[in-house]
Amino acid sequence: MCNNINIILISFIVYDVIVSGAGPSGSYLSYLLSRNGYKVLQLEEHREVGKPVECTGLVSERVFKYVNSRSMVNEVHGANVFFPNGKSIHISKGEKTIVMYRDDFDKDVSAMAIGAGADTRINARVLDAKVNDSYGEVKYRENGEIKYARANIIVGADGANSRIRLSLNYERPKKIISTYQVDSSFHLDDQDDVNVFIGSENSKGFFGWAVPSGEITRIGVGVDHVTAIKYFRNINVKFNRSQILGINAGPIPINYLSKTYGNRSLLLGDAAGIVKPLSGGGIYTGIISAKNAYTAIDQSFNRNNFSEDALKAYQKLWKREIGRELFIDAKIQQYFSKISTNDTLLNKIYDTINREDIIRRINSLGDIDYPAKVVFSILMRKPQLIKYFLFGG
Ligand SMILES: Cc1cc2nc3c(=O)[nH]c(=O)nc-3n(C[C@H](O)[C@H](O)[C@H](O)COP(=O)(O)OP(=O)(O)OC[C@H]3O[C@@H](n4cnc5c(N)ncnc54)[C@H](O)[C@@H]3O)c2cc1C
Repeated sequence: MCNNINIILISFIVYDVIVSGAGPSGSYLSYLLSRNGYKVLQLEEHREVGKPVECTGLVSERVFKYVNSRSMVNEVHGANVFFPNGKSIHISKGEKTIVMYRDDFDKDVSAMAIGAGADTRINARVLDAKVNDSYGEVKYRENGEIKYARANIIVGADGANSRIRLSLNYERPKKIISTYQVDSSFHLDDQDDVNVFIGSENSKGFFGWAVPSGEITRIGVGVDHVTAIKYFRNINVKFNRSQILGINAGPIPINYLSKTYGNRSLLLGDAAGIVKPLSGGGIYTGIISAKNAYTAIDQSFNRNNFSEDALKAYQKLWKREIGRELFIDAKIQQYFSKISTNDTLLNKIYDTINREDIIRRINSLGDIDYPAKVVFSILMRKPQLIKYFLFGG
């Protein structure tokens, strides 16, 4: 009897914000809110933050301006892009790109949130959510027990298959890339370059990769509307005598939703499709979405207005910061997707851009978070590429 009373009391404590998901987006928002005095309940369905890993762990150094983490395993400065003709173009950059242990990184962001005061629960799966004029409510299962909690705002930071997005009737992301990735025992001698594989053998609609991560190599592929395993095998065969140490896969939503806010609710990171369309990278963009969500939430508390109209500010803010880049990248991705299995054309592109001046240009402008400007710059110098992209030849 006593226990039941406790459960009801705990269940109906009103929080300021409930965050579903303890990935980078959810934990970074929970950190910012808690640090600024908001009462946050954060729910994570898994028994361990950061697991299972569904990530290659490649991020720009910018990420570490936001997150204090020592999860780095390697740093790379360039990429070899392999074309169907077997030849490659080598791109190198002044600044480094970090390869990290993604599970450690997620734990670090989560620890920041908890350290700032967030009430983070693991093994707590959100089952349903609803909002009305007075509050938002989530139904969740924590350690086998069904519970309910209320808050002024509900945030879906629960990844590509967001339950909050479904429960609150948001649209689904329009394009999802499927992936298959392994941790392989293969040791790449070249620890300074990421390897990218394009062409009909390697992917349909996206690309394959092999990322040096110390003693192991992360080998994987993304595909659009086909099974990834066939393409993965074609890539993996290049790394003979390797053994698979772990398999991970997951969806990558690569077009942001047209609406990422609603009455008493917001969607962040993968849940909102706020991901870089050309690479599928979503850690940096998720953190940017969380940062802007904090500003919008803070404003709505200051005005005591949690309506859709008030929370619209969130979308304006994140779009102002990265919306243009993501929009252009999505267009480029759409064109690339169409020609991704046209080996003849890809080889023509190789012939067009494999020139010292172009490579120098790529090297000087390349930025994994903001790739649009390098693509534009190459198109300006080599306008025939526009014809290749638009008309396939
Ligand atoms: C194979 C692969 C490789 C990738 N490589 C890179 C890379 O190199 N660099 C990069 O930047 N990005 C990469 N990404 C993308 C990156 O992993 C995501 O964009 C990033 O994780 C998004 O963070 P998030 O916090 O928005 O969502 P997530 O990290 O997906 O976090 C969502 C969290 O919500 C939890 N959750 C889900 N449903 C519920 C529920 N109902 N109740 C409670 N909790 C729930 C999940 O367990 C998870 O912890 C890769 C993705 C894949 C699939």
